[in-house]
Order: sequence, then C-alpha cells, then structure tokens
Amino acid sequence: MEHGFHAFFRHYHTWRALLRRIDPELGFLRPVGGYPVISREWPAEDLTGLPRVAPFNLLALFARSPSLGLRDLLRSDQRRAAELLAYERERTTAAFDDVPAAGFLAALGMSDRAQAMLFEAFARSFFADPGALSAAELVAMFHYYFLGNPAGIGFDAPATDHHTAIWTPLRDHLERHGATVRTGTPAHALAPADGHRWRVELGGEHLVTRHLVLATDPPALRALVAGSPQLADVAPGLAAKAAALPVAPPFAVTRLWLDRDVAPQRATFSAVSREPTLDSVTVYSRLERPSAEWAARTGGAVVELHSYACTAPDAATATARMRDELAALWPETAEAGVVHVHERIAATAPTFPPGGAAARLRVTGEGRGIRVAGDHVDTPFLTGLMERAAVSGVLAANDVLAEVGAGPEPLVAGPQRGLLAGLLPRPR
Ligand SMILES: Cc1cc2nc3c(=O)[nH]c(=O)nc-3n(C[C@H](O)[C@H](O)[C@H](O)COP(=O)(O)OP(=O)(O)OC[C@H]3O[C@@H](n4cnc5c(N)ncnc54)[C@H](O)[C@@H]3O)c2cc1C
Repeated sequence: MEHGFHAFFRHYHTWRALLRRIDPELGFLRPVGGYPVISREWPAEDLTGLPRVAPFNLLALFARSPSLGLRDLLRSDQRRAAELLAYERERTTAAFDDVPAAGFLAALGMSDRAQAMLFEAFARSFFADPGALSAAELVAMFHYYFLGNPAGIGFDAPATDHHTAIWTPLRDHLERHGATVRTGTPAHALAPADGHRWRVELGGEHLVTRHLVLATDPPALRALVAGSPQLADVAPGLAAKAAALPVAPPFAVTRLWLDRDVAPQRATFSAVSREPTLDSVTVYSRLERPSAEWAARTGGAVVELHSYACTAPDAATATARMRDELAALWPETAEAGVVHVHERIAATAPTFPPGGAAARLRVTGEGRGIRVAGDHVDTPFLTGLMERAAVSGVLAANDVLAEVGAGPEPLVAGPQRGLLAGLLPRPR
C-alpha cells in the first residue's frame, strides 16, 4: 500500500528484482538527491556521497562535517563506537538486544550534536523513539544502510504516484500469469481443513488452500490469529508469537498543497532532527509527476510531512504541529495558504523493542503449510523495511515452489559482517 514518500535504496536487491518484472530498466525510479538531516539548532548534515567502504565512510562523515568534526569521534567511547563497525548477527544480538538504543547512543559519549544529527534521526525512521528500540537492531540497521552498504546510502523514488508506477503494473503482471488479485477482501479467520489444507474465511465466503502466506501488517496478523482459535492447537508457536507481536506507535503522514513554492535551495527530501513531531519533509512537487504538474499550473508547492512515534491524538493535531515545526525550519512556509490537505494517522508498522529478538516470527517453521512475510519478519540475512518485506515474500514463495518442484527465485544479500567483526572482545 502507499503511505507517502518512500526511499527505494539502491541496495534493495530483491525489491528491485521484483520491480524489474514490471519495468526491466527500473525507468520509473529517479534519484532523489541527498539525505540531509536538518534541525533548528545545527547546520544540515548530508549522509550521502561518502566513500563506500567502512571505516572510511564513517571517518569521512566526521571529517567533512561542519558540525560533527573528528573530535567527536575521538572524544567518543571508542570501544563502544567500534561496535558499530563490528556487526555480526549472533554476537551483536547477544550483546545488545536487551539494551535500548538510547542507552547505547548515550554510552558512545559523542556530543549532543553528533547524537542528534547522525543517530537519532536515523533511529526514528524505524518508527520508534531510541528508548524503545533495541540497540542490536540499531547497530544492524546502521551496518545495513550505512557502514556495510557498498551502494552508499543512495536512494531513488518513483517519478509518479505508486498506484500508476507500481501497483497497477504489478497487478497486470500477476493477472497475465493467471492470478486473481482481490483487494478490499480481508481474511477474517483461518482453520485447518481436510487433506492438510487451510480454510480462509473472507466474510460470507471462503477459500480452501494447501499453501498460505500471511503477509499482513503486524496488527492485522494479531487480529487474524485472535479470530482463529484453532490455530493455537495446530500452530501454537505462530499463535503465541502473533498474539504478542509488538506494534510501533502511530505514524502520521500529511500531504499539503500550498499556494506558494518553498525556497529554491530546499532539498527534495530532508530528515528532521529534534522536533517533537516532524521527522521528515519531502517536496513532492519536485519529485512526483502529478504534484509537479499541479505546482506548474498553480505556482504552488506540494509538501509531505512525516511523523514517526507520533504523540498527537489525531491527524488534524499532527498536521497542525508539523506545520508549526516546519515553519520554524523553513520560514517561507509560515504564511503559505493550504489549498488542499490529505492526512493520515495509523499504527500498522512493526517495532523491535529491547529484548524482543527471540520472539520474532520467521518465514517458515511456524505451522504446516503456513509462511509468514512482511517487514516484521526475521530474515536469515540482513534486510530492512521494504527489502525485508520483499525478501521474506520471496523466501515464502520459494518454500511453496520447493514443495511443487519449481524455483527457487535467487536472492542476493549484502555484506553480513562489519569490518571489525570477530576482532572485538565480548562487551561487558
Ligand atoms: C510513513 C512511512 C514511511 C516509510 N518510508 C519508508 C522508506 O522510505 N523506505 C522503506 O524501505 N520503507 C519505508 N517504510 C516502510 C514500508 O512502508 C514497509 O516496510 C513496507 O510497506 C512493508 O511491507 P509489508 O508488505 O510488510 O506490509 P504493508 O505494506 O503494510 O502491507 C500489508 C498489507 O496487508 C493487507 N492486509 C491487512 N489485513 C489484511 C487481512 N486481514 N486480509 C488480507 N490483507 C490484509 C493490507 O491492506 C496491506 O496491503 C515507511 C513506512 C511508513 C508508514
């Protein structure tokens, strides 16, 4: 589904391979530009355009930065900072899963500025305050997106709306291959059926199938399992883990059609640090065709504001707070009139709280004929967000294909170990 601006990172190998089925050249994706982090207090930092290999990317970031400086790195607890370069799944999980990311960051001993501009904005894009995120997940994601990512932190975004660029062509592709796609048809309950099959209740009608891939968002999986009492007998692990699946606090997405443009120097996408509500701002009228056409016609601008771990009680309040915070960062928006607004607040994202690693669902092994996919699912190699959803989906498909004697679809993983993996003593 579409919920606003999404960065399609260049190292999303599986998601991109899937999208090549609808566009072999990926011509619908365009580079977005930098990844600046902006704040009221400090000059912007850009996380892109760095050397591609650790530790040079980390060193270069500190060396070139007007606000961080190598002093920050030298002042930090270097044993703790070295852990960022030493990602190794088992060791990192064992050492840091119980630790909140906020505590890990505080122990790094870096300046407040370095914490705010480098780590906090990054941590919050996983939908949680750093106090509610596992430090092991933070280290893993820092390795996956930044330090261990040979593609740098570069990303692209669709040049037009997701419905036109992705969902309609994917649906057409599936239908050409004989699939039936039914949106707006939620599954309400599952029950075992004869012949090692499953009965899926769709509200008034049902399907019977040998193979199930449960690829909903976490609260929907919780609801599906709660409505399927027989699961506890035949798939007790799935039933227990799904019932306890953690869900991130709400996110808010507001798209504003403004009666005037923003200043020309504004980046297309900016992450925002240290505002109570606003976490990112995207100038849609510089990104997406329908918005660009509207802006060219009217002289206005389309901007999209995101808030993760949003504390506002409703979408309208979130919009008002994000507008005020944006006006403090980009003063030219203070007086702009709002011609139209789309706003949404929802709590459907996964979260990875301290101490939660062992309870994560896996793609297979949770129940006969059942596979689980989505961005909350533990994958055997490092992935994140949309790529985690895609990889878990392909793993689920490969499991089905293996049973019918076809496949598999190949998967490509990036570097799985940090530069210093295996070289550090076990942290106390
Ligand atoms: C504001 C925001 C910004 C984001 N930005 C980025 C980004 O820049 N880069 C990035 O990689 N990721 C980003 N993400 C994360 C990304 O959206 C998710 O990782 C991705 O969508 C997860 O895909 P999924 O298939 O697991 O779940 P979803 O996309 O949530 O899809 C779940 C599907 O299940 C369906 N469903 C629910 N209940 C049922 C039911 N009972 N029966 C049948 N179907 C059901 C839903 O309708 C939905 O279509 C962002 C997320 C948000 C909210």
